[in-house]
Amino acid sequence: MTEHLKSLVRTIPDFPEPGIMFRDVTTLFADPAGMAGSIRGMADHAGAFPKFDCVAGIEARGFILGAALAIELGVGFVPLRKKGKLPGATLHEDYALEYGTDTLEVHQDAINEGDRVLLIDDLIATGGTALAAHRLVTRAGGIVPAAFFVIDLPELGGAAKLRAAGLEVRVLMDFDGA
Ligand code: AMP
Repeated sequence: MTEHLKSLVRTIPDFPEPGIMFRDVTTLFADPAGMAGSIRGMADHAGAFPKFDCVAGIEARGFILGAALAIELGVGFVPLRKKGKLPGATLHEDYALEYGTDTLEVHQDAINEGDRVLLIDDLIATGGTALAAHRLVTRAGGIVPAAFFVIDLPELGGAAKLRAAGLEVRVLMDFDGA
């Protein structure tokens, strides 16, 4: 199954900058078995953990996965948004990307104190985004026992950094290179 899911991810070289191999999950999501298989795979991983209180997804592809997974797990969904999009009072965390810099925000009241939050994104590369999301959810009062991704780029070391920060990391597939 994983090999089939992997075959549905399209690779676009030199996007958005020369040297980046962009792993495009739109082709995975557009395929019915690809979309369902991605959510099934993540739900199976979640089943090995004590129940999570909510799923937090990182904008934008983490919303697609996280929302579907939250329904599957019977919990609510919390969006971790890019700067300036959330209408209420927010907390924010800046981070460096593989290409550029960015800011993630969460509503201050989105997470209950002590909630077990499952962090979701499509891909982990350097880990900068997920580590910022972890800091943000922690500052909002949550506990992040685990982070799940469809794709890991192990050579960029992000999953190792998350594990060093105490999170359990689960992925559905990995790709060589950056
Ligand atoms: P990082 O913070 O370096 O772990 O980068 C992860 C974030 O950037 C995720 O939200 C990914 O969607 C996106 N991203 C980074 N590198 C790639 C890549 N090679 N292909 C697709 N998306 C990527």
